[in-house]
Amino acid sequence: MDSSVVSKLKEIFDESRLDVVEHHKGSVCQSCERKDFYDFRYKCLECNNYDLCGLCFETRRTSKDHKLSHPMILVFKSLSPEKNQLLDQIIQEKDKLLKETAKINIFEGSECKICKVSPIKGIKIKCDICINFDMCWDCFGSGEEHEKHSKDHPTVVFLLPRRNICDIKSLEDCGELGGGQFGDVRLVKCPNNQQYALKTIIVDPTDKKSLSDANMKSCHNEVQGLTELYSSTIVKYYESQTEEKDGKKYHYILMEYMQNGSLHTFLKKIKLDKLRRFNLVLLLIRGIRRMHKKDLYTRILNPKMC
Ligand SMILES: [Zn+2]
Ligand SMILES: [Zn+2]
Ligand SMILES: [Zn+2]
Ligand SMILES: [Zn+2]
Repeated sequence: MDSSVVSKLKEIFDESRLDVVEHHKGSVCQSCERKDFYDFRYKCLECNNYDLCGLCFETRRTSKDHKLSHPMILVFKSLSPEKNQLLDQIIQEKDKLLKETAKINIFEGSECKICKVSPIKGIKIKCDICINFDMCWDCFGSGEEHEKHSKDHPTVVFLLPRRNICDIKSLEDCGELGGGQFGDVRLVKCPNNQQYALKTIIVDPTDKKSLSDANMKSCHNEVQGLTELYSSTIVKYYESQTEEKDGKKYHYILMEYMQNGSLHTFLKKIKLDKLRRFNLVLLLIRGIRRMHKKDLYTRILNPKMC
């Protein structure tokens, strides 16, 4: 049975989709002072009622007593006043939160990069600067440093393990979105009717033009980094799965579906005025900078943000 804290957290967050960008009604960014901002929202676990918009978090802005090293909860969807109040209450009773989540939460496949415990239980802390650098709460709290990681790095706190979207085998195929040298991208639907883009990369050992296993391994590492890269300006990667069939390997990557197509088709379809075009360029720069800071170089940016 879930503890009361974990079931309350599920009530607050569980319906949140990871790619949702919304106006956070009633929230004010404590750095740029934007109200009801349209972006991801970061909420400090240490300061009382302290929110930052995605842009201010990514550009490392702070104000008041808030420090860059304070762990931040990432909130995708706009929360109702009741849910916000409930979340504040949970955060204020931090000892209870830690004790109760430690009994229930298991972050499958994760490893604390400092004490090497695996899987991480309770609360997971992810460094927002180091690549794939997760910590358990105890190591984070001890302020221990490891290789390039410093205790002053900004971090994101995960209060609940991420749910799998769905089994790739249960997806309904809704047609092709695009093709490439190594596979295609198809529009798919989950049993809950949510639409996604599914990229399939086929590794065929008998075909010289096919990707090698070594290339695929580096591709997997990149996908792993991307699934935990959060930015409202970058197309969300959810998960990847591999299947072997007829001597070939099929690598599936489930991604956010962009209804308006690529930036190219979007700009052809919709006429933007000068201000929106200027904003679009700023968003492009923001997405590219976010990826480069994480040593990722070839990703898709989110045209929905313009
Ligand atoms: Zn801001
Ligand atoms: Zn703070
Ligand atoms: Zn640890
Ligand atoms: Zn770090």
